[in-house]
Amino acid sequence: MDLRGKTIIITGASSGIGAAAALLFSDAKANLVLGARRSAELEAIASRIRGQGGNVAILSGDVIDEGYADALVNLARSEFGALDGAFNNAGVVGDMCPVSKMPIDNWNKVIATNLTSAFLAAKAQIPAMVARGRGSIVFTSSFVGHSNGGMPGIAAYAASKAGLIGFVKSLASDHAADGVRVNALLPGGTITPSGGEGDPATLEFIARLHPMKRMADAREIAEAALFLLSDRSSFMTGSPMLVDGGISVRLV
Ligand code: NAP
Repeated sequence: MDLRGKTIIITGASSGIGAAAALLFSDAKANLVLGARRSAELEAIASRIRGQGGNVAILSGDVIDEGYADALVNLARSEFGALDGAFNNAGVVGDMCPVSKMPIDNWNKVIATNLTSAFLAAKAQIPAMVARGRGSIVFTSSFVGHSNGGMPGIAAYAASKAGLIGFVKSLASDHAADGVRVNALLPGGTITPSGGEGDPATLEFIARLHPMKRMADAREIAEAALFLLSDRSSFMTGSPMLVDGGISVRLV
């Protein structure tokens, strides 16, 4: 799958799935604009990409800031001339606890980071793509936005990721005739810092929830994002695409 000549924004690129996507999309010849809050981690990924001859620009910031979403689009245009795609992937799990014990601050942080950020990203990205009559946007949801799969204490996260699927369907419907495709990617448990990396007991618990009895490598999820951003998925829009090792068919 080729992204040659396409300029793509990736958020959450300092770690996990976003970092794997940055390396994979660069192999596929995309021009990249990478975002996250931690600039040193972004710079480390960008150095690897530049070392392999790739084209990359970085901008650190917080996805809950409206100005940051606009700044990423402006950087894509100023560095590479236009914006062709976006992998809006930044997200947080938040505190894992029952709703009866969940602080409102946790609820607000998770909804803002995972869902309000999608509104801000789309508001900035859609006009840049509609003006050219083409584009592809992918939002990282989760299997828990579709089916709980046996995960405890994640009501805020599940609400944000399910909300994202409804948001994607509306956005896809509004802009299909403009040539802009919008899809959601629903990973299963993936070995990343948010997915329990570094905690063998958590990794084993999550792996066992999957019929495949393992978690995904971040690159396996990035491959699906690459497909959704490439022209190979040209007839897909409004889809919640499960890449989840079968966890959504598990009977709890
Ligand atoms: P990760 O390694 O912890 O990466 C999360 C990324 O999001 C980091 O780059 C982080 O960068 C960025 N981020 C978080 N809050 C941000 C904010 N307010 N502003 C800007 N960037 C922010 O976790 P991951 O597993 O790769 O997660 C990527 C996406 O996959 C998330 O949306 C997550 O919900 C989803 N997902 C993960 C799994 C899993 O099992 N791992 C399963 C399903 C879905 P900074 O800290 O540098 O800002």
